[in-house]
Amino acid sequence: MNAPKEIRTYCPRCNKHTVHTVSLYKDGRRRALAKGERAHERERRGYGGQKYPMLRRKAKTTKKQTLKLKCKDCGYTIHREGIRLKKLTIQ
Ligand SMILES: [Zn+2]
Repeated sequence: MNAPKEIRTYCPRCNKHTVHTVSLYKDGRRRALAKGERAHERERRGYGGQKYPMLRRKAKTTKKQTLKLKCKDCGYTIHREGIRLKKLTIQ
């Protein structure tokens, strides 16, 4: 799918339609010392270590692509819920 570089849509902070710049949302880097990571590491210890079945074979062939929309007036960022796409290009 082709996504436009700029979109005119509703901004909750400005409370009106404004021009937004479009970019692709990406997962952040996982921090080893984050609370959840530490808890998970703790639960994996000892006998019967694995908490949930390990994913051996992926069911999905695509990922949901989320768009990040940044308001040009106030800088507020909203996420637009993604749909499953093989390929997404922002023009
Ligand atoms: Zn705004």
